[in-house]
Amino acid sequence: MGTNGRHSAPTVDPLATDRSVASARPGGRWDYAPAPETVKVVVKPSYGHYIGGKWSRAGAGAFATINPATEEPLAIVAQGTEKDVDQAVRAAAKALPAWSGLPARERAKFLFRVARRIQERAREFAVLETMDSGKPIKESRDVDVPLAAAHFFYHAGWADKLAYAFPGRTPRPVGVCGQVIPWNFPLLMAAWKLAPALACGNTCVLKPAETTPLTALRLAEVFDECGVPPGVLNVVTGDGRTGAAIVSHPGVDKVAFTGSTEVGKKIAAAVAARGARLSLELGGKSPHIIFEDASLDQAVEGVIAGIYFNQGEVCCAGSRLFVQESILTEVITRLERRLATLRVGDPMDKNTDVGAINSRDQLDRVSHYVSLGREEGATYHEASATSLPTRGFYCRPCFFSNVQPSHTIAREEIFGPVLSVMSFRTPEEAVTRANNSPYGLAAGIWTDKGSKVFDIAGKLKAGVVWCNTYNKFDPASPFGGYKESGFGREGGLQGLRAYVRLDVPTGRTH
Ligand code: NAD
Repeated sequence: MGTNGRHSAPTVDPLATDRSVASARPGGRWDYAPAPETVKVVVKPSYGHYIGGKWSRAGAGAFATINPATEEPLAIVAQGTEKDVDQAVRAAAKALPAWSGLPARERAKFLFRVARRIQERAREFAVLETMDSGKPIKESRDVDVPLAAAHFFYHAGWADKLAYAFPGRTPRPVGVCGQVIPWNFPLLMAAWKLAPALACGNTCVLKPAETTPLTALRLAEVFDECGVPPGVLNVVTGDGRTGAAIVSHPGVDKVAFTGSTEVGKKIAAAVAARGARLSLELGGKSPHIIFEDASLDQAVEGVIAGIYFNQGEVCCAGSRLFVQESILTEVITRLERRLATLRVGDPMDKNTDVGAINSRDQLDRVSHYVSLGREEGATYHEASATSLPTRGFYCRPCFFSNVQPSHTIAREEIFGPVLSVMSFRTPEEAVTRANNSPYGLAAGIWTDKGSKVFDIAGKLKAGVVWCNTYNKFDPASPFGGYKESGFGREGGLQGLRAYVRLDVPTGRTH
């Protein structure tokens, strides 16, 4: 979609000349007629920051956010300076006494309103998210936007019940929260950060990622429409320099960051120097373990969804697959067969499974890892019949077998549709190999035996362990990592803890 609001589809698959439903490809893939999303979303030519309830102009240093599916610019957005950040932090500090002093049920009403408004504008949010991020419309429509609304509903419910969340304590807001988020779930990450912070009476300065600012800016419009007082939410756009200015601002009492481990480490150092609170949701290299007694179709489907849907741009993507040796050949055959049926292409098409990679930089990074996998001697598998659009940042989904634990693709986060398949003989070996990673965000176990599920889940060093399913989220369920995947939890009762100071009976606070 261009700035004129018209959707320009990427070049269509040349093999699919006959789009009638009745033709099958060599790989067994049936062609579907295109089902493009028809909702038109108007994108303004340029966006400034949203500070103290007012919109600024884009100003000097502004840059374009582009549609990764077409490489066309969508809008110009502002590059936040230290001065902009300072203004936003001051606006948040000014709004804090009135917002935290509101009766909690009144704060809840605002959050319920925001949640309902997200639902009312759900298709618009979904289309905008897909335009700006490249993720398939069925993902933004069925996952990102409904979950974002659910987070506001859930935390609105907590706002006047915090005393029950922390019995015997008096929960108080922490203050001004500086929140920096990545590009893979732009609206959902904003909801994960804002909803608990605001429910607990804090005020916020949010910075979306430089490649996906549009839904956060539209969310600011929703806050405006819902009458949320000025300064309670401030959105400052820009790149890492803007993020650095937020996390090191002395007026920010709590920093919440979701992004790469590399940047997370820098932020930890910046925040430690001034003693603000910090939570970090970082990268991952999450393992799946398939035991020989598992339902193989179900397991393969879960693995496919967990790495290829959303182009593998999911922090908890199951990017390492450990298969019990006796079923390795069978699983590889089924993976190849399913890979051939994935629909890669225009993210605005409702049939698309794998959309566009978010940026050229990220596509280059993924391609680099694919080359490394081949050079280091792993065996490459891809759906060769799948042709990619000629414009846009597309990557052919693939997996590697014969992967050694020492291979780079088995150790480093790729953040793309690339899976490493390895084998194991005993449950103990599976646990040891799965835990052999600096990350510890999530894991998946596939087995028919309940006792094995409980045994293995307890031994895995991962913040979330899914059993016979994968990538299931709920606002009531805490999410977060171990080791280099970060610390702190988002969602659930545990997620609220990061946004309150607790007065203990002795009068001390912590
Ligand atoms: P990134 O770390 O490059 O950027 C994340 C955000 O930090 C962006 O808004 C960016 O502008 C900002 N930033 C960059 N440098 C900064 C600095 N020095 N100080 C402050 N802010 C700075 O990450 P990304 O490429 O946008 O996102 C992908 C990463 O995010 C992956 O590693 C993924 O695993 C991780 N992620 C984790 C979770 C989770 O819940 N654990 C969720 C989503 C994404």
